[in-house]
Amino acid sequence: MQLTTSLINNIKSLYPQFKYEAGNDFSWNPSNDTIYYAVEHLNGLDQMLHELAHALLDHRNFSKDIELISLERDAWRYAKNELATKLEHKIQDSSIESHLDTYRDWLHKRSTCPKCESTGLQQDSSHYSCITCGQGWRVNDARSCGLRRYVIKK
Ligand SMILES: [Zn+2]
Ligand SMILES: [Zn+2]
Repeated sequence: MQLTTSLINNIKSLYPQFKYEAGNDFSWNPSNDTIYYAVEHLNGLDQMLHELAHALLDHRNFSKDIELISLERDAWRYAKNELATKLEHKIQDSSIESHLDTYRDWLHKRSTCPKCESTGLQQDSSHYSCITCGQGWRVNDARSCGLRRYVIKK
């Protein structure tokens, strides 16, 4: 379902502790307690509830990519079970799975060794190393849902 003004107002009045700002994409910024949303998006309500779930679950930092996947999963579960129900909306499992697939692809790209294609081990937020061939590589910093667009090609 697309986001409408009345849906946005409804969400704002239910969760007035956060700031809301229209933008080009959906994201949650914990440093200023702001949820950014895009009105023209086809499944805007799903995305909005997902970001709201990150906010309500107080998702702030993660140091390993694998943690991001689990935060994503938790936020979708909460959006579907708690938030959508409250707004008499239904988030389809297929929609959740396709979002999570994006992250799995992202994680796969980041963690694959550029030299031998083995799966590397993450050392810190921006470094991986390969246990098979010893190669190390850097990845860009990842902080929010939107960062899949900044994946560095190997
Ligand atoms: Zn390798
Ligand atoms: Zn997310």
